Amino acid sequence: MARTEHAVVIAGGGPTGLMLAGELALAGVDVAIVERRPNQELAGSRAGGLHSRTIEVLDQRGIADRFLSEGQIAQVAGFGGVRFDISDFPTRHNYGLGLWQNHIERILAGWVAELDVPIHYGREVTGFAQDSTGVEVALSDGEGLRGEYLVGCDGGRSLVRKAAGIEFPGWDPTTSALIGQVEMAEQPPLGVHTNAFGIHSFGKLEYKIVDGKVVYGEGGPVGVMVTEQHVGAAGEPTLQDLSEALIAACGTDYGVHSPIWISRFTDATRQAANYRDGRVLLAGDAAHIHAPDGGQGLNIGVQDAVNLGWKLAQVVKRTSPESLLDSYHAERHPVAARVLRNTMASVALRRPDDRTKAVGEVMAELLGMEEPRKRFAAMQSGLDVHYDVGEGHPLLGRRMPDLDLVAADGPVRVFSLLHDARPVLLNLGDPGSIDITPWAGRVRLTDAKYHGTWELPALGEVTPPAAVLIRPDGHVAWVADAAQSGLADALTRWFGAPAAA
Ligand SMILES: Cc1cc2nc3c(=O)[nH]c(=O)nc-3n(C[C@H](O)[C@H](O)[C@H](O)COP(=O)(O)OP(=O)(O)OC[C@H]3O[C@@H](n4cnc5c(N)ncnc54)[C@H](O)[C@@H]3O)c2cc1C
Repeated sequence: MARTEHAVVIAGGGPTGLMLAGELALAGVDVAIVERRPNQELAGSRAGGLHSRTIEVLDQRGIADRFLSEGQIAQVAGFGGVRFDISDFPTRHNYGLGLWQNHIERILAGWVAELDVPIHYGREVTGFAQDSTGVEVALSDGEGLRGEYLVGCDGGRSLVRKAAGIEFPGWDPTTSALIGQVEMAEQPPLGVHTNAFGIHSFGKLEYKIVDGKVVYGEGGPVGVMVTEQHVGAAGEPTLQDLSEALIAACGTDYGVHSPIWISRFTDATRQAANYRDGRVLLAGDAAHIHAPDGGQGLNIGVQDAVNLGWKLAQVVKRTSPESLLDSYHAERHPVAARVLRNTMASVALRRPDDRTKAVGEVMAELLGMEEPRKRFAAMQSGLDVHYDVGEGHPLLGRRMPDLDLVAADGPVRVFSLLHDARPVLLNLGDPGSIDITPWAGRVRLTDAKYHGTWELPALGEVTPPAAVLIRPDGHVAWVADAAQSGLADALTRWFGAPAAA
């Protein structure tokens, strides 16, 4: 069996695998992707866009504009049918972006190609065996790859997760829906509708958002989503299934014909009990599945990748011990667990009986109040994620705001300091007052000034710090107190032991 070696092999080139590959490549790690599809084309529409924090994360790498220029900016965060306006949030991207997943993947793949990551399309990971130094990865064409680490970004039915024997506990589906792109002889009522069967909707792939409202393009195929009468149908859904579901829900199938694609999704809700087994890790849908309510899956998958990438890079480069990888599960498992809880609540609120409707109305009333709105909007947009890096200043463990700084050589945005995915120590006190010589090769020290206020989404204003240590994922790992205590510990914990003098 021919065998090629890489530091990291990624199974699956969906949004999570692509983002992770980009992160590793930026850190100079030799990484390759194995993707079952023959190319990046995606049958079906799946995710409809990005939340604020994902746009920020892409901005941290200098690629947000690629997405913004192709999508539709809109207020997309919501919960249980309540839409949140986050235009008052302290972020440059106080909105979401409508952009179909096939475009998101195409743009990510373009970035990954610029970073020279090989993608083995049309091949499938069929199994693996890990030993003390690496993982032998078997491919469908009989060839093999060896990686020091294997990351399963291979979606909800992840072979990597199953072969690693990682438990996937959770809840079986209670509802199922068909989704597709079809032709219809009659014009269906465009928009989202609810009746005794649940939700159904009709739309067009091409749309514009005008004054916050979706305006669909003329002609072309119809995007349809319809709740099925029964859960548990097996096999690939057919045109006949779609026609029957439409007749049951709407009394007519609108002359549905010529499907471009049809698929089924459910509210099955499960999460990997562990995101790591030795040299095998899981990210994205491979680690968590849930109903699409709230549009979270792709977003948290991309953010898993951004949390894992720099840690795995440091372990591969031997600057950090393997134990750093444990913080990946510790930080990301609770984030997805919360999304699972919220989507389950959201699906429950979709039930069309009068009592559930009443609960929904009460929820909507509560979420209309300022503090609950802010808290839920920060959660749904991903801006409130808080990793446990220790007690102290409210910035600790939270996302670093993209402040407009003035450095020695002129104005600079915080996010632009993160473009190369390296840690940053931002000294806002006296220039030259912080010395990190033993970490100088790993951590970028920037002296700068900032005179504005510091405000965090949902939390409000916080005390301006004199210095912050920012991880490559944009989360704050250390905040200076008057004595700058704990800096060496934080540098060692997150970026490895000091280099010998
Ligand atoms: C109807 C619907 C609407 C959604 N809407 C939203 C939304 O609005 N917002 C949002 O954030 N999310 C949404 N999602 C969820 C989103 O689509 C997923 O969370 C996202 O695709 C997960 O990305 P991933 O890369 O982790 O997994 P996937 O996108 O599933 O990618 C996994 C990749 O691995 C490949 N693969 C699988 N097995 C193997 C193997 N053995 N070897 C090699 N390759 C393999 C697959 O071909 C695939 O390309 C929606 C999902 C559905 C179904």
